[in-house]
Amino acid sequence: MIDTKAKQLSFESSAVHAGSGKKDQYGSHTTPIYQTSTFVFKNVDEGSKAFAHEEGGASHIYSRLGNPTVEQLERAICELETYGMETPESFSGVAFGSGMAAITTGIISLAKGKHIIAQDALYGCTSQFLKEETEMLGMSTSFIDMTDLFLLEMELKKNPDTALIYLESIANPTMKVSDIEAISKLAKEHGALVMVDNTFATPYHLQPLKFDADVVVHSTTKYMGGHGTIIGGALVAKNELLDETGVYLFRKNLGGISGPMDAWITLNGVKTLALRMEKHSSNAMKVAEFLESHPKVETVWYPGLESHAQHSLAGSIMTKGFGGVISFELKDGLEAGKSLMNNVKLCTLAVSLGTVDTLIQHPASMTHSVVDEQLRCDAGITDGLVRLSVGIESADDIIADLEQALLN
Ligand SMILES: *Cc1c(COP(=O)(O)O)cnc(C)c1O
Repeated sequence: MIDTKAKQLSFESSAVHAGSGKKDQYGSHTTPIYQTSTFVFKNVDEGSKAFAHEEGGASHIYSRLGNPTVEQLERAICELETYGMETPESFSGVAFGSGMAAITTGIISLAKGKHIIAQDALYGCTSQFLKEETEMLGMSTSFIDMTDLFLLEMELKKNPDTALIYLESIANPTMKVSDIEAISKLAKEHGALVMVDNTFATPYHLQPLKFDADVVVHSTTKYMGGHGTIIGGALVAKNELLDETGVYLFRKNLGGISGPMDAWITLNGVKTLALRMEKHSSNAMKVAEFLESHPKVETVWYPGLESHAQHSLAGSIMTKGFGGVISFELKDGLEAGKSLMNNVKLCTLAVSLGTVDTLIQHPASMTHSVVDEQLRCDAGITDGLVRLSVGIESADDIIADLEQALLN
């Protein structure tokens, strides 16, 4: 067994071996898929000790409470999010059946009836949950621009019962990058926790826990799985915090657990995470530069571009590139967006991101076409906004496809 915690292993090597801390009873090279609902007890004693969490109890009871394949994925994601940290053993990963299950279970456990301060532009469903559903669950949420620390401090003072600050390391779809370290410092001064959705950046580019965030959350559907084959989620936090806030209890009773097959597929994705992210981000950099110089493109939002408002901050916290997602605005609005969608040949017209192939999406005519125009524009989803998840094809082919589609 490889000791992935050994300091000398690179992130790349750690990703390949992540989570493989336990030896299989038959010596299987790859992780077995424990496709089972329940686990057999040898006798009553083993069963009762398991329920009482006493020594000598069975290691597993029922797959909603824990499953060996899912646990390997939890170790893997935790190892990568805590890579290079002083005490990685004081953290654990918790896997879920979707990114939204991880996010909502995390928020409910951490905020518990108190106030949440959230970033103004977030992933659509996260935003909807915070805006429309936290109130009936006894919580309240206010939204601010997280890149403005002065605003955050004012909001914390205005809401002394703030339990949680919620943001995305690279925000969707504005691509804003926030100063996680400064936000975490302010949060600690006001007794609040910080939860960061690290789906866009992945631990290859950025590890929010290293900048003192309390919880990292993921839609593993995206880059972790990497091939668009599953829906999954995960969060990583200190063991103490997970126990104190009852995250395991909420997951058990809300029931948003990951299935063993999906966990296994995600584990295979994790092995190539570093390799894929390197290519996703170097391709995205080239595509962003191409788009920025194109006469039909008004603005490009990508943290790697010097024109990006938080470019220098992004460069100081992300040392190996800036991920694979680009947003851009077409000069000719709605019709130009529709035309680009209908004319791409290599790029796939689909929502989601983080797959090996390039995905393109035009929110105004697709995901947000039924939303009121004013509300849509207020949320930053303008008529000509296009979101591109740059794949690992050759950058030249992706650029050639966009070039011919933009000509139409
Ligand atoms: C996709 C996504 C989610 C939601 O994840 P699901 O796996 O679809 O539930 C949350 N946050 C971000 C940034 C995402 O891209």
